[in-house]
Parts: sequence; C-alpha cells; structure tokens
Amino acid sequence: DSKPHPLHILFCPHLAHGHLIPTTDMARLFARQGVKATIVTTQLNAPFFSQIIERERKLGIEIDIHIIKFPSAEAGLPEGIENISSITSREMGLKFFKAVSLLQQPLEQILEECHPNCLVADAMFPWATEVARKLGIPRLVFNGTSYFALSVIDSLLRYEPWKNITSDYQPFEVPGIPGKIKMTKLQQPVELRESIVDDKMKVLMHQVLESEITSYGVLMNSFQELEPAYVEYYRNIVGRKTWHIGPLSLCNRNTEDISQRGNAASIDAVECLRWLDSKKHNSVFYICFGSVSWFSAAQLNEIAKGLEASGQDFIWVVRKVNNEDEEEWLPEGFEERLKGKGLIIRGWAPQVLILDHEAVGGFMTHCGWNSTLESITAGVPMVTWPLSNEQFYNEKLVTEILRVGIGVGAQEWSRWMEKRKFLVTKENIIKAVTQLMVGEEANDIRSRASALKLMAKRAVEEGGSSHSDLKALLDGLRLNSPGGEQ
Ligand code: UDP
Repeated sequence: DSKPHPLHILFCPHLAHGHLIPTTDMARLFARQGVKATIVTTQLNAPFFSQIIERERKLGIEIDIHIIKFPSAEAGLPEGIENISSITSREMGLKFFKAVSLLQQPLEQILEECHPNCLVADAMFPWATEVARKLGIPRLVFNGTSYFALSVIDSLLRYEPWKNITSDYQPFEVPGIPGKIKMTKLQQPVELRESIVDDKMKVLMHQVLESEITSYGVLMNSFQELEPAYVEYYRNIVGRKTWHIGPLSLCNRNTEDISQRGNAASIDAVECLRWLDSKKHNSVFYICFGSVSWFSAAQLNEIAKGLEASGQDFIWVVRKVNNEDEEEWLPEGFEERLKGKGLIIRGWAPQVLILDHEAVGGFMTHCGWNSTLESITAGVPMVTWPLSNEQFYNEKLVTEILRVGIGVGAQEWSRWMEKRKFLVTKENIIKAVTQLMVGEEANDIRSRASALKLMAKRAVEEGGSSHSDLKALLDGLRLNSPGGEQ
C-alpha cells in the first residue's frame, strides 16, 4: 500500500469576505487531508489569514500564503482599496473589478513558478481556466453559492423566461428546474432582465458559466442532503462536474479565528457569548446582513422600531458606510430603553459563534450563501431579506424548498451601492419576526431546521456525503498528477 503522492493546491479567492472566509476553511480542510495548500492573495487581505495559518502550523498543518500586488494604480483606484468591503461608490466598484481582472498576469506567473497540481480559483475569475490550461494545470471553480441558485441562474440565462412578461411583479416560472419555482422580474438584476446584449455583467456571467464548462469541475460549499434535487439537476441536466464539500464553516469553530476574521472585530467574542449565556434557549433574534450590504439611516431606523415592537431580545449587527447618517439612525432613547435586552454591534460580529449559541433562535439575513448555510448548520430558522446577487434565489430555497424561514417581504433587487432608502416597513418586520420566533408555525420551522443541522454535521463526518466527495476529488487529482498512483 503505497503512500499517496502529496498534492500541491493553489487557492485563489476573490477579494471579499464572503469568499475569503470559505476559502480559508477550504484550504485547511484540504491541508488536513495531507494536501500542501497555498493561498494567493494581496498584501492588505493577507492579515485575514495569518493568525489562522500560524495556529494550523503549530498543529503541524502546513498552509502557505503567496502575496501578489493589487494593481490599484493601473485600474485608477486609490491605494488601500483591496477588498470589496472598502468600496463606497459604484464608480469605485467598476475600477475594483478592472483591477481584479488584471490579476490574471501575476497569477499566471505564480502558476509558472510553482506549478501546482491544481488551481482552485474563484468563479469571479473566469479567465483562470484558460491560464491554468495553458500550463496543463487542472482548474477547479470555487462557486460559493447553492446548487439551487446555480440551477436558477443557468435556467434564467438560457431561457430568459421574462421575455414575454410585461409587469415587473407578475410571477413567471423558472423553466426546467425541479420544484416549480416562481420569480418576478424585480428579483433579477436589471442588466439581465433588460436583455442588454453587451452589458458587462451579462458578459461576465456567461464567461463564468463558460469557464465552469471548460474547467476540471466545480467545488461547492453545500451538502447532498440539503438540496438533493438540485445537486442531481446541476450535475445531470445542466451537466457540470461538481464536488460538494460543505458546510465549510464546520471546519472552523475556533473563537479566536472567528473574532479576527473581519480584521476588525467590533466586539470581543467571549464578551458576546457571555451576554448570550444570560439568555434563555432560542430567545434571542440575531440580525446581520453580511459583509458588504448596508442600509440608509431611514431603513435602519425602521428596523430598530420593528425590533423594539417585536419584544424579542436581539443582537443587531449594523454596518454603515456613510457617516453623514450617524445622528438619526436610531430612534431616540433606543439603546437606554433596551439595555440588557438588545445588543448592537457596530461593525463586525463573531457570526458563526453567535449562530451556534443555544440562546439564538432566529436570524434575519440577506441570504448571502455563507450566512444562509451557517444558519442551516446551526439549526437556526431565518427571516429572509434578500437585497441583490443570488440572494433572492437562496431565499426561495430557504422559505419554499427547505421551509426553514419566513420572508420579510423584500420585493426588489437593489442595485449595488444604490442608497437603500426604504425597502421594508416595520409592520412587515414585526410580523415576520413574531411568526418565526413564537407559535405553532415557529415550532414546525424549528424542528425542520434542527433536522438539517444534524444532516450537515453528518455530511462532513467520515463516510458522510461531503467527506466522500472530498476524498473522491483528491483521489482523482492524485491520479491526474505527474507521478500519481495508477
Ligand atoms: N460575517 C461575520 N461577521 C459579520 C458579518 C459577516 O462573521 O459581522 C461573516 C459571515 O459569518 C459570513 C460572511 O461574513 O461567513 C458573509 O458572507 P455572506 O455570503 O453571507 O454574505 P456577503 O458578505 O458575501 O454578502
């Protein structure tokens, strides 16, 4: 029985927390399987990984980091903007994506230098497939969303089912996919639904799909038992080669790691957990909209009123970009009145630990895939409030397929960086939060969520579906590598 040939895998994550976090988890998951893992990132994103890597190293697990220069100047960006969370305008966002596309050349250079056995590059880097192919290196696409969302996107791009629909509010069926899923035009990106032929976003989406087809395959942060019909659909009908290895966040339950994930933890994790310790089982409602989304002062004010009126204890993470709103976003006397009942975290929260705490009984989320899956993994029911990207699709999965959440009534995709004035009223917030936290329906939802939590745990254990997929992937890569076993 010969020892497997050691594999070297290069991970190239997109420069956003929602991609850096699962990539770190993925790198350590692979490293624990004996793979030599190298993460490629830029100077300002590197601290994100450094402590975690150091700790793994002490455990004898080797993860390297390779720094590349972010081409800010070449793309007309000011120095210091190397992560999506620092972007404050649409114009800056476009320049950022220009800079990201310029990473192609430095990545090519690294591949030439290290010649790894495999490149795991984010879906946002469609050019990576070709770059790796030229050097004979298999490229895996890391697609940080659900099979469900990918199935919907594939169908929408392929059939454009809104073509004969005139009203923005009229539901249409997403053709082909299981479950008779209905959407409206308002839930789609404007660029997509208006069939603007040479729109940059549409072009990018097609390039992403094309690069999936020509790549070695797609890595998914999901698990078989969560969305079996869509795993089957994406593999057999859409025809992609995929491996699901999630929930990736289960690799990571270390208090210190999670505290420093955002580079700027706004509360000590231990302090936060102590606060939760004083609360009853399933009594606290947690609110957070991920690492990039933000609201206007008027909408924050409305959320505050809804939370107060709901009567629930809560932890509310508030991320604001523009300081001009500083004064008016909280109703007068809010914090004094709710002292002990509500905790506001301004900035970055140890989300995974909060969700895992038994006092937390509900989560208001924008349905970013990481947050959604973290909630599922913790068995926490959700109030869904999608804003953009594939979040409206993930909402459908949560509320209609898995039935572990209740929609707050968000109707419309809001364009990136557009000021989110007023999307949802306090009445809707009170209704959804109450429905989720108390009563018979709440109990049913909670028991379904608990069942999923168990399935998630089993999936990553020895012999579980995600564990088996990971093994199968690594075996395949070993066979494929020079000197690999036959
Ligand atoms: N997150 C966190 N603390 C925060 C905000 C976000 O730990 O205060 C983490 C969250 O646990 C998740 C990620 O950031 O892993 C957000 O990813 P998601 O896909 O949910 O949303 P995005 O930020 O990409 O919109």
